[in-house]
Amino acid sequence: MEIFKRLEEHNYEELIMCHDKASGLKAIICIHDTTLGPGVGGTRMWNYPTEEEALTDVLRLARGMTYKNAVAGLNAGGCKGVIIADPKKDKSEALFRAYGRFVQSLNGRFNTGEDVGISLADLEYVNMETDFIVGRESTSGDPGPVTGFGVFRGIEACAQEVWGSEVLSDKTVAVQGLGHVGYALCEYLHEKGAKLIVADINEKMVQQAIDKFGAEAVKPEEIYGVQCDIFAPCALGAVINDVTIPQLKCKIIAGSANNQMKEARHGEIVHEKGILYAPDYVINAGGVINVYQDICEGDYKRTQTLQQISRIYDSIEKVIAISKRDNISTYKAADIMAEERIQSIRNINRIVGRRQ
Ligand code: NAD
Repeated sequence: MEIFKRLEEHNYEELIMCHDKASGLKAIICIHDTTLGPGVGGTRMWNYPTEEEALTDVLRLARGMTYKNAVAGLNAGGCKGVIIADPKKDKSEALFRAYGRFVQSLNGRFNTGEDVGISLADLEYVNMETDFIVGRESTSGDPGPVTGFGVFRGIEACAQEVWGSEVLSDKTVAVQGLGHVGYALCEYLHEKGAKLIVADINEKMVQQAIDKFGAEAVKPEEIYGVQCDIFAPCALGAVINDVTIPQLKCKIIAGSANNQMKEARHGEIVHEKGILYAPDYVINAGGVINVYQDICEGDYKRTQTLQQISRIYDSIEKVIAISKRDNISTYKAADIMAEERIQSIRNINRIVGRRQ
């Protein structure tokens, strides 16, 4: 493992190996870039088969957070933590508190919250040892519904681009996944009169969407090929791939799922096919915008947070503008937008003085 070579490749700032023999803690914290502000990124618990896989994941995820926070307009850098353990059997108070002490030792460079494998209850143990936890139940809370609101605003921006109007009452949206985000998205879309086609492996949620929104339900594998205007993937990653792209009949892909493109080339293929793709990490930033409020001074304020999340509309507009300016896919344009913001802030002259 040539670690420094890997850090150099994408200019990572710091990598911390956290070990506590007594509790069994083995964790890696990665701080990618704090040009814009202190790092904000979740902590994942996963039973990684090898340390190499854990390292690869934390490097990838921390860098992803730099880009996500940058395009969301936050004064926050990118970071991530991974705990190498089985979430089904290795959780303990001692392990999370040991992790919390490492988080505290970074003195605010690393602000973290829940991610895959970590519950809000687990986070409370980490919180016993550190001041740098975001997204607790008692603060900004469940990010799902506000992420759904951000996706809805992103869809409106895409509709404006494609049809010259953000009116959705004559549009059909296919929503894959009716979980925390997908269901909330359906509520917003239904309120605006959009017709919904839904799929989920959870039949209870499907029935709820039929009853509440008059949605049409299809089998999970059929959602890609339905006749619709907008496809909103809100369940799994890698759903836009060689098998699904030929089935798509939509003009827009805009949903919350992370890493929707199986490979980068799929972002290019949908662009060439004339489908407008709202890059996942731009449109699903509602969750991080929400938790970011926890590191800002003062109490969490829902109304202001929603106003900020509403500006995902503008972020999507900017991505589209860069895509047109540089004649590139929106998939690539999102990265350019993040890099341009980070670079522009890095370039500001250093004026010495004390902040009041
Ligand atoms: P969730 O677990 O609450 O919901 C996911 C839903 O997808 C569940 O109802 C599940 O039954 C369904 N599902 C699973 N496999 C499916 C399949 N093959 N076909 C159809 N449905 C299927 O998760 P969530 O919090 O709603 O997040 C949804 C997606 O958005 C995830 O990819 C997540 O990483 C991403 N995301 C979530 C947030 C957030 O704030 N929760 C923020 C950013 C990104």
